[in-house]
Amino acid sequence: MSDLEEFIAQLPVCDVHEHHIPELIHSSKVDLLKLFQQSYAGWTQERPYPLPSETRDVDPMLSDSPATNWDSLKPYIEESGSSMFVRNLLQGIGELYPIARDGITKSNWQELDQQVRSNHQTPDWRNTVLRRAKIEHVITDPYSNPLLDPVETFGKNYSSVVRMNAFALGWHPQSRDHNENNAHELLEGQGLSTNTFEQYLESLETLVKSMRGKNQVAIKNALAYDRFLHFDPTSRDQAKAIWGQASPSAEGQKAFGDFIVDHFCDLCAQYELPMQVHLGTAIIRGSNPMNLAPLIERHPKTRFLLMHLAYPWSRELLGMAFVYRNIWLDLTWAALLSPSHFKLALNEALEVLPDDSRMMFGGDNWHVEETFGTINTFKSLIGEVLQAKVVAGYFPFDHASRLASRILKDNAVDFFGL
Ligand SMILES: [Zn+2]
Repeated sequence: MSDLEEFIAQLPVCDVHEHHIPELIHSSKVDLLKLFQQSYAGWTQERPYPLPSETRDVDPMLSDSPATNWDSLKPYIEESGSSMFVRNLLQGIGELYPIARDGITKSNWQELDQQVRSNHQTPDWRNTVLRRAKIEHVITDPYSNPLLDPVETFGKNYSSVVRMNAFALGWHPQSRDHNENNAHELLEGQGLSTNTFEQYLESLETLVKSMRGKNQVAIKNALAYDRFLHFDPTSRDQAKAIWGQASPSAEGQKAFGDFIVDHFCDLCAQYELPMQVHLGTAIIRGSNPMNLAPLIERHPKTRFLLMHLAYPWSRELLGMAFVYRNIWLDLTWAALLSPSHFKLALNEALEVLPDDSRMMFGGDNWHVEETFGTINTFKSLIGEVLQAKVVAGYFPFDHASRLASRILKDNAVDFFGL
């Protein structure tokens, strides 16, 4: 390991994106199979979101799993064993559980399973792993309960983001987003009114205004899992015409959501909160980052944190981040989809971004074993890329080490005002 890679390995981390949700991370029933099912490795077996042409009864990550045995583990470990999602989780488990250092096999899975169950019944397991990963702070996206107070639920080392999907689909008291969240229930649960369209908009403003006091540090736009990301300018009257309809036309649904997304962008600028946006693979016909350019251009005072290097459209995203100076990049997930592409894209990002404040990183995971693997994977990739740039004479060691500290922690602290 080079000096730079060693330096990066010991750096503290501000983790800007996780899906630590109480029903999974606080569950005392987590076993080895659940670590696979409730992780990106699980996505190798089943996509947890439906396409417009599909329906689903239950989120496969949250549904009951079959009995834990070698037959139920094999599809992940052997049949999807080339996927980086699986490799990353195996590496995280292998470092935390010495018995699995050389892999999970038919002969060691039972003992490993016992150790996983026992750790997940220990209340401090989560924080023990976070400390080992040198993660000082976590920003979680608790999509199963978007308004939860992260400090009450997880402790002082957590903040959260508020997913806005349900609100952009909230034209009717019964309408729900792909996570089954309902805007009217969420707002009424906070004592906010949704009787008229005007009250609905006011309630959204009250919600945003109260976020900082509840340790909620950004709005999360994950609409790439519900619809296409073309957000067009829409009048209040056009949106109001959809209000109260049980099944508006596709155009009507889009118009309502377009208006609400603009409303949230305005509120983010007004109350100085950033907006995270999921880009890249999702409902893939509509999730190219360039679709978002008109929204970003309409809201120059809103700070957008664009996610996942928009895989597979990283170049489009980097071009946008050069042109629009209200864009920051959350590198999360890109390294897990393809570390090879990630290294290429990170090289280009270093060269094209206008300044060193722009990049941040997180795990984007459900259980801490996966988070642990992801942070280590990322640190080793960034170390490899920066070291190669130092060797090539692109910038000196001091610059590379400062930049690594910024990507892993300082940029996030500044950006979110933590
Ligand atoms: Zn995520």
